[in-house]
Amino acid sequence: MKLTKPWENALKQIKTWARVNSPWAIHFNSGSCNGCDIEILATLTPRYDLERLGVKLQGSPRHADVLLCTGPVTRQARERLLRTYEQMPEPKFVIAVGSCGISGGVFQSCYNVVGSIDEVIPVDVYVPGCPPRPEAIIDGIVKLLDKLKGAKPEVIETP
Ligand code: SF4
Repeated sequence: MKLTKPWENALKQIKTWARVNSPWAIHFNSGSCNGCDIEILATLTPRYDLERLGVKLQGSPRHADVLLCTGPVTRQARERLLRTYEQMPEPKFVIAVGSCGISGGVFQSCYNVVGSIDEVIPVDVYVPGCPPRPEAIIDGIVKLLDKLKGAKPEVIETP
């Protein structure tokens, strides 16, 4: 059955509503020192309780909408990062968490580092900091959700 234009719009609105209210996230460490990963875990656990925003941590990229990626991309992790990203269904979004993910940080120019995350996959939101605090990670996720709702993109500053 071919959908008419109003139904297509309604369906699109329902999908956006569902996506914004319940983004499922997967966490990938592409070479981080684990500092950023500990902050992501703190964000997900009851003290900061990211689940109150509907964000659920997923084990499989096939069920995830958002990739929370930390660290510079090492030569060893590059293929795995690409494979994880490719396995995620469309539309998919990437949040680069931490200065190393944004620019390579302290690992820049290391023999085993390919570079920043956006040199390998497209990034939607950057959360700076070494490591960024849970409040900054939550702020980055809220910015992504605003972007999905169609709000104008904003520059994220370190709190
Ligand atoms: S930004 Fe800081 S905490 Fe995060 S991976 Fe780099 S060095 Fe570690």
